[in-house]
Amino acid sequence: MANIRLFVDHALAAGQLIPLTREQAHYLFSVMRLGVGDTVTVFNGSDGAWSCAVVEAGKKGGSLMAEAQSAPQVTPPDVALYFAPIKKARTDFIVEKAAELGVRQICPMQTDFTNSERIRQDRLQAHAVEAAEQCGGTYVPEVMALQKMSTLLNGWDAARQILFCDETLVDAQKAFPTATQGQPWAIFIGPEGGFSEAERDRLRALPQAHPVSLGPRVLRADTAAVAALTLWQHHLGDWQ
Ligand code: SAM
Repeated sequence: MANIRLFVDHALAAGQLIPLTREQAHYLFSVMRLGVGDTVTVFNGSDGAWSCAVVEAGKKGGSLMAEAQSAPQVTPPDVALYFAPIKKARTDFIVEKAAELGVRQICPMQTDFTNSERIRQDRLQAHAVEAAEQCGGTYVPEVMALQKMSTLLNGWDAARQILFCDETLVDAQKAFPTATQGQPWAIFIGPEGGFSEAERDRLRALPQAHPVSLGPRVLRADTAAVAALTLWQHHLGDWQ
């Protein structure tokens, strides 16, 4: 039987009874055809993964009993992905890949050239949950509400370093920033139209901003998000 993984917003400990929502019951019992006695792997984003037994199975609800922890909690380093929303499907892709690659927060930001004025935060959060369920993660990044980049920078935490992915650096070989482990970071990815000159100037003026090139070709925003996160995790994250 496939190892079914489910995110629950509930405390997890040996002997803990976990009530299921209607949607979770529908997925486990109607779609995946599980029944009483079957096992499900459950995680809540902070207590690792737990092996649970189905103790009650119904069309509109049910419950699981947590038996033993099957995997330790793995929380990603404190890195947040700030990106300008693009077309829906590609924004969904960015959220899904960020959850898989490992981020603490996913922060849609409105820049001068951002096309999409709105995002569906609840839908994107559901995508992040689904990505964690599918990739074996035990952490679900929080998807924040859409905010203007200028507002974000006005109240920026001086300790948080910024990996500023600057598409105008395509031909400049800039070394990847070295930094002390454990510092909080943010990765900034612009929209299809790129960052405006004013935004670039503002970012470059920030002492904690590190402009970097993602290679000699201009990448689509969704490709850039994956490339930047991969580089960050390799150089400064938890992939060592
Ligand atoms: N309209 C821009 C242009 O034609 O130059 C392209 C913007 S690109 C589609 C979207 C974002 O991905 C950029 O704002 C930047 O953050 C990132 N990006 C894409 N290619 C990059 C590269 N080679 N180096 C650094 N960042 C890059």
